[in-house]
Amino acid sequence: MKPLALLEAAVKKPVWGCQMCGQCVLHSTGMTCPMNCPKTLRNGPCGGVRPDGRCEVKPEMRCVWVKAVERAPRTPWAHELHDIRKPVDNRLWGTSSWANFLSKRDREAPKGWNVEA
Ligand code: SF4
Repeated sequence: MKPLALLEAAVKKPVWGCQMCGQCVLHSTGMTCPMNCPKTLRNGPCGGVRPDGRCEVKPEMRCVWVKAVERAPRTPWAHELHDIRKPVDNRLWGTSSWANFLSKRDREAPKGWNVEA
């Protein structure tokens, strides 16, 4: 991991459970990292959320997306929760999303993926 990515991980992992996907969407998901979702959904929740709000895959934890929906109204970016986020570009795992934001690399959508919001 490059030094900037190491710094980013040191800051964001303990605070937000960052998984270093390289294309951060924390601000648009209620400051809740969706990469902690066992299905790594960028637009959740899935249809399997349990009635008590827990995860169908990992019932020991609350659904990441249920938490995101609860928390988003408390952020300045609440409206962005309903944006359609593009899928994770797996080539960016382990890279710095700060660097990818500045280079605009995180804005590139995978070929063939085009969704009119
Ligand atoms: S229940 Fe929530 S955390 Fe679990 S897989 Fe579905 S969306 Fe992800």
